[in-house]
Amino acid sequence: HHPFVNYGKKTKASYENMKEAKNYLPGGVTANIKHFAPYPIVMNKANGAWVEDVDGNKYIDYLMGYGSLALGHGHKDIRLAINKQLSDDGTFLFGTPHRLEVEFAKRIQEHYPSMEKMRYTNSGTEATLLAIRLARAFTGKGKIAKFEGHYHGGYNSMLYSINPPLSEAGEEGEPLPVPESSGLDTFKENEPIILPFNHLHATESLIKKHASELAAVIVEPVQGGFIPAKQEFMDLLRKVTKKYGIVLIFDEVKTGFRVSLGGAQSVYNISPDLTTLGKAIGGGFPIGLVGGKEKIMATSSPKVAGDVFDVGQGNNSSAKDTLFHSGTYNGHPTILAAGLATIDRLQKEFSIVEENTTILRRKLEHVAKKANVPIKTVGIGTIFSVLCTREKNIYNYRDLQKTNLPLRKEIDYHLLDEGIYTKPLNRYSLSTEHGEEELNKTINAYERVLNSRLE
Ligand code: PLP
Repeated sequence: HHPFVNYGKKTKASYENMKEAKNYLPGGVTANIKHFAPYPIVMNKANGAWVEDVDGNKYIDYLMGYGSLALGHGHKDIRLAINKQLSDDGTFLFGTPHRLEVEFAKRIQEHYPSMEKMRYTNSGTEATLLAIRLARAFTGKGKIAKFEGHYHGGYNSMLYSINPPLSEAGEEGEPLPVPESSGLDTFKENEPIILPFNHLHATESLIKKHASELAAVIVEPVQGGFIPAKQEFMDLLRKVTKKYGIVLIFDEVKTGFRVSLGGAQSVYNISPDLTTLGKAIGGGFPIGLVGGKEKIMATSSPKVAGDVFDVGQGNNSSAKDTLFHSGTYNGHPTILAAGLATIDRLQKEFSIVEENTTILRRKLEHVAKKANVPIKTVGIGTIFSVLCTREKNIYNYRDLQKTNLPLRKEIDYHLLDEGIYTKPLNRYSLSTEHGEEELNKTINAYERVLNSRLE
């Protein structure tokens, strides 16, 4: 039984596409999260807030490229900026320093003054990987602490306790590292220390206990982009990491230019040692960025030896003192042009998107209340999630597990049938292109689903 009653009939071409995809791609997908049962919908076209699948069904899109598309699909500002960069500069890639690298950094720093220096990467994953290397190089310590339920990219040392079965995850106050994948390094040294988000006392004592080996604490200051930290929890994290000489990394890949223009650090008024950005700053193109305190970032600076730059790539005696960071496409001109156009437009329209998000959330909660379905929305700024629960406060992964996830999933499938695209269980991201029409259609769809379609 599938709650999307017309699924088979409406998505025939998606089914056929996925069948063919399975001949080439494991599971038919290019990332495991793109899969959902019985088979995911295959998209074909998009415009603004809308996507269209291979069968011609149209949806209002709240996935928004996992939050990357702050200006919606195909925004003309970004198209123009890309075309201009390509024709003015006449290249796809310099492979040398170029002007946009500086222009973009200036713009980021206006919104993120904690980022005194920065480096570009090609994804959020690479950004957190570099942040961790910087922290280790700077402190001379090896261990990293992360929070249960937090995601920082798909590499070995961070692939622990993102979505662990509670039966394996230990006590709430002292969670165990649970691998999220087969094929991880089995070296114990690689395992992160797992901390309980929003638990002040337990987090403080775990950091204290491991202080001598901890290089960094990395955190999604708003978990999953929607569960806010308590202010006093963030204040404590800043205080404790500073006290023990541990680098505090704010992973703002989701929250940057989303919970506010200045990210979670401006909401909480906290200056982290390092910050990672991604997603929204590329307007839909692959990018990542790590930046922070000058003295930490300086470990990656090339050392001058005589008249040659000793870049520490292993061919000289001081390589171990210089942090290695490279990437053929780092600071890609086309992507920086797209990113600048995105930030320019967001500076003008962020407050409207934020207001629309608040309106949508308020109306969803109103419709749910009238239909007597236990729903609340949780989030800050232009992202939120819909949680099926009567609990007043949701603070972390374990609280989330106690909400009614099957009901949320059932609603998501009915919404697909109603032309609202949220990948089942995913958060909602709005864009400058979600206007009154889209919001009203979404509310009406919710009204139908909650009043007449649930079992
Ligand atoms: N960090 C956070 C908080 C993220 O949400 C993500 C992506 O979802 C990443 C890191 C990894 O970014 P990317 O998918 O660009 O590698």
